[in-house]
Amino acid sequence: MSDDPTIFEQIVAGEIPARIVYETDTVAAFLDANPLAPGHTLVVPKDAYERLGELPDEIAADVWAAVQELTPRIESAVDADASNVGVNNGSAAGQEVPHVHVHIVPRFEGDGGRP
Ligand code: 5GP
Repeated sequence: MSDDPTIFEQIVAGEIPARIVYETDTVAAFLDANPLAPGHTLVVPKDAYERLGELPDEIAADVWAAVQELTPRIESAVDADASNVGVNNGSAAGQEVPHVHVHIVPRFEGDGGRP
């Protein structure tokens, strides 16, 4: 963990506004500020771990439970047909925020895009 709070820690602390859609003691989820599709959501551990491999097992389980719960709810909310669910794990993979986050990107038949 770094000493400087990440953007996502600041969102969890209420210091940066975001549309929070889910929260437990250990996990939060909020809408992405630059959505790839309606309903694009980020699921994060409340504490900042930069990479997946740094997550304690119990926190990883909490994050995944949130992803499993939220994915069908988000699809239903935006009337999506499917979702891309994924993690950019490390800067070379496109990770911009050094705080583990799972993207849930709703997809629609014929949308033709890639996340
Ligand atoms: P990455 O490229 O690290 O996997 O994705 C970072 C994501 O965080 C991007 O989709 C970006 O739009 C989103 N993001 C960056 N800053 C903020 C912010 O301040 N608020 C919210 N809600 N999303 C953000």
